[in-house]
Amino acid sequence: MTTIDQSEAMTGERGVYVAGPGGPPALEFSRAWDYAPAPESVPVEIAASYGHYIGGAFVASNSGRTLASSIPAEETALSEVARGDAADVDAAVRAARKAQPAWAALPAKERGKYLFRIARRLQERAREFAILETKDNGKPIRESRDVDIPLAAAHFFYHAGWADKLAHAFPGATPKPVGVCGQIIPWNFPLLMAAWKLAPALACGNTCVLKPAETTPLTALRLAEVMEEVGLPAGVVNIVTGDGEAGAALVSHPDIDKIAFTGSTEVGKRIATEVAGTGKRLTLELGGKSPNIIFEDASLDQAVEGIIAGIYFNQGHVCCAGSRLFVQESVVEEVTERLKIRMRSLRVGDPLDKNTDIGAINSRAQLDTIERYLDLAKQEGLELCEPGGAALPDSGYWRRPCFFTGVQASHVMAREEVFGPVLSVMTFRTPEEAIQRANNTPYGLAAGVWTDKGSKIFEIAGRLKAGIVWLNTYNRFDPASPFGGYKESGFGREGGLHGLRSYVRL
Ligand code: NDP
Repeated sequence: MTTIDQSEAMTGERGVYVAGPGGPPALEFSRAWDYAPAPESVPVEIAASYGHYIGGAFVASNSGRTLASSIPAEETALSEVARGDAADVDAAVRAARKAQPAWAALPAKERGKYLFRIARRLQERAREFAILETKDNGKPIRESRDVDIPLAAAHFFYHAGWADKLAHAFPGATPKPVGVCGQIIPWNFPLLMAAWKLAPALACGNTCVLKPAETTPLTALRLAEVMEEVGLPAGVVNIVTGDGEAGAALVSHPDIDKIAFTGSTEVGKRIATEVAGTGKRLTLELGGKSPNIIFEDASLDQAVEGIIAGIYFNQGHVCCAGSRLFVQESVVEEVTERLKIRMRSLRVGDPLDKNTDIGAINSRAQLDTIERYLDLAKQEGLELCEPGGAALPDSGYWRRPCFFTGVQASHVMAREEVFGPVLSVMTFRTPEEAIQRANNTPYGLAAGVWTDKGSKIFEIAGRLKAGIVWLNTYNRFDPASPFGGYKESGFGREGGLHGLRSYVRL
């Protein structure tokens, strides 16, 4: 650690002390402290290539085609996976169909035991999973280690508990499994999304065909290894890797009973059209442009932490990210000044370093999308504010956290999902205006409200059109709490009792 002489700092030579908003100078930690690198150094075995996991075995794709999976922080190859097509999907659906009656006929307590074992193995192998996720996805190890992997295990634990209590979940009914579920997941929380999809389906006696995202297939395949370890019967979980072609083949397969999709609104709409009239069940967890509302009576330092957690967590690759910040006009300058100070302390860089806050953007394509939005915003006359200018690594896909002020409802920045570390700051004067502006979006996934007044919290939370409303916090997840949206953010819930509902026939 470098120590700083305060008098030197105050001269601004090291830029350590900056004027606090309306108060005494505030210590700016980013430049007052130097961190020694703390890379996660545990080696993780990664095979040169992986097949699909079908019927309890790893198999090559029918066509022999493969896809590369790379390390976004380095732009180097990590592994190669099978590139699935309709024939691979068909083999997986057949395996799932064959396994379903016996899986459903198992005593529910026995099904629960398998889920408990999966959860425990995930905990035991957590470090390995965290490193693999961080390499394949680019997210900081701090997040994969402390959020993704523990939550994935928690989802299996939670649903293991439900397996033999379904009759209590749906009193007066006799819950039956839906059958074979096709599950398509995105690249932003690869293992966690696999857990969200698989755990409730398995607990209810269904069998599954899971299609991970093209750029992040590796932790789902490692989860297949865990399924083997715990002795899960062959065909209960099948994993077909590949791109949109495999996803589309799964959606259109005639022997699928339910589709669960998480991803973009655009693809979600296509899936809804395709599934309409087929009798297949469908749940969609799509995009968002969620409001995070800060009232003048909020604890502002706490709220600034909530802004950071809301939009810069996971590089902003979060469907429920608080990407539209509404600040009461009387405190907007103070909040943006405090935000700038806090943002200067965010460390962008090597995702495997335990001190890193913001990792790599998942792919070249996503980085290009983000940069395109930034250009559009500048063309619309918005000024980019990008506090914290530390050098970025030479290779890899990087984007420093940033925000735009003075955003109006008509700007692209207020309307479209960027899916990156980019925040739009807007203002309001009255609670009524905050509600009107927050609801002025085609999406309805999440929202945040920051205020000291309990009555205001309940009044506003009840009037926000969002599936999840966080009060004096943001981006908190729990397997017992249902997650999902409405309007163009999709329909159906994942987690909690409501999440189970879409995996049973009553
Ligand atoms: P997609 O919706 O394209 O991908 C989500 C999943 O669906 C992936 O597994 C994908 O496969 C698969 N898929 C792609 N096309 C089809 C299809 N026609 N039928 C069935 N499945 C399909 O999202 P992207 O990864 O392309 O990201 C694009 C944008 O979507 C982002 O910029 C972001 O705005 C938004 N997004 C939102 C997410 C959310 O959680 N709400 C998550 C991810 C993205 P493959 O990966 O191989 O293309």
